[in-house]
Amino acid sequence: MECFDLGIIGGGPAGYTTALYAAKQGKSVVLFEKDEIGGTCLNRGCIPTKIYLHASHVYQEIKDASKIGIFSDNTNFDFEKISEHKNNTIQKIRKSLELMIKQAGIIVVKEEAKILTKDTIEANNIKYNCNEIVICTGSKPKEIKGLEFDHDFIINSDDILNRNQLPKEILIVGSGAIGIEWARILSSFDVEVILTEIAPKLIPLADWEVSKRIERQFKMKKIKYYTETSIKTIENKKVTLSNDEIIEPDCILVAAGREVVKNKGVERLEGIKIIGDAAGEIQLAHYATSQAKELVLNIPYNKELIPSVIYGTPEIAWIGKCFKSKEEETGYNVVVYPISALGKAHCDGCIDGFIKIISKDKKIVGAHIISPEASALIQQITIAMQNNITVDKLKEVCFAHPTYSEGIFEGIMQL
Ligand SMILES: Cc1cc2nc3c(=O)[nH]c(=O)nc-3n(C[C@H](O)[C@H](O)[C@H](O)COP(=O)(O)OP(=O)(O)OC[C@H]3O[C@@H](n4cnc5c(N)ncnc54)[C@H](O)[C@@H]3O)c2cc1C
Repeated sequence: MECFDLGIIGGGPAGYTTALYAAKQGKSVVLFEKDEIGGTCLNRGCIPTKIYLHASHVYQEIKDASKIGIFSDNTNFDFEKISEHKNNTIQKIRKSLELMIKQAGIIVVKEEAKILTKDTIEANNIKYNCNEIVICTGSKPKEIKGLEFDHDFIINSDDILNRNQLPKEILIVGSGAIGIEWARILSSFDVEVILTEIAPKLIPLADWEVSKRIERQFKMKKIKYYTETSIKTIENKKVTLSNDEIIEPDCILVAAGREVVKNKGVERLEGIKIIGDAAGEIQLAHYATSQAKELVLNIPYNKELIPSVIYGTPEIAWIGKCFKSKEEETGYNVVVYPISALGKAHCDGCIDGFIKIISKDKKIVGAHIISPEASALIQQITIAMQNNITVDKLKEVCFAHPTYSEGIFEGIMQL
């Protein structure tokens, strides 16, 4: 039987990051992946959606370019070609990841793995002895009762990526990160989008002011949405919503969260670690890699300081204290700096957003951003919060001009 210091089940961000860190420390590592290296993130999640977002953004930019004096006739797109580009890009990233894994001396077994004992893994009838085992088996789209996936009319976030044609009209159920991203991608590709959310506001986990602004932006972009609404009945592809509206979409994308993969034979025995989506906590790629970093390198992370990002135009990002209503803000210093006050936003032609910063006792305790580059801006706040940098200390920092970062500076100056 082959012996390894570490056996990892699952080759997504949690698994391959754990493997790479451990191999760098000189450990012998075997990584089991039943599908493709890169997991949900690379093959069915973060990366393919951002490729589509980019393509849809470029299409919209070209369509709108006459406003700034640039003309192009017959702006159009070929979704099949865009899908091909998506697949090629994923393949390119996967190849370099596989090369990195190979160069690190990690043994990859492309089979479904089972745990036999706390130090034995079996795959394809071959047993592997592993001093330590880590489960990184990820998550899968959650089904809702009455909306079971048939992968044709009722689809999930995996199914939609396998389509080479766009629907004319789609109903998206759920306004979390996945629902909002797909609503933005598809409406930018001229698909008629109807979004339903069971909670009283879009992006239920976001700050009240973020939800309110996104609702306004959806109205302006003519993305139809209904809050406090569910599906009452579906008959012959005719959907009746709980508000009695009847629609006939080409398909329904259920984006109602993800659940842990329950793998028979990958039960957690004593001493076996479990990280990433499979742990059923925060289901984000950067949380998975932070867990890997802590597990192997002993570098801690702060679970309260995991940034959230929803991509699209403009990006949405937040961290820390989040208010469900204006009333909850009592006792905090809150500044909402409009990006329309930034020269950079005017240069880029995207002025609808804000940088909201919350402080208490001169420390930043949260931030909520709707702006181009929000995914990068939130990182500045994260570093400040992680290191307890006071508001006064941040005021001493020089921020480059013209940038969106100036919005953080101007906000800080008001605290
Ligand atoms: C549409 C979508 C968009 C997303 N966008 C973002 C984003 O922008 N940013 C972000 O941070 N997160 C995003 N996520 C979430 C992100 O993809 C996950 O949090 C991340 O992939 C979790 O990594 P993981 O390694 O824990 O699990 P996974 O990436 O799911 O990997 C688990 C792997 O384990 C393998 N496996 C399972 N069982 C076995 C077995 N028995 N034997 C061998 N292999 C097995 C699976 O095949 C899979 O490859 C998105 C998710 C989706 C669906």
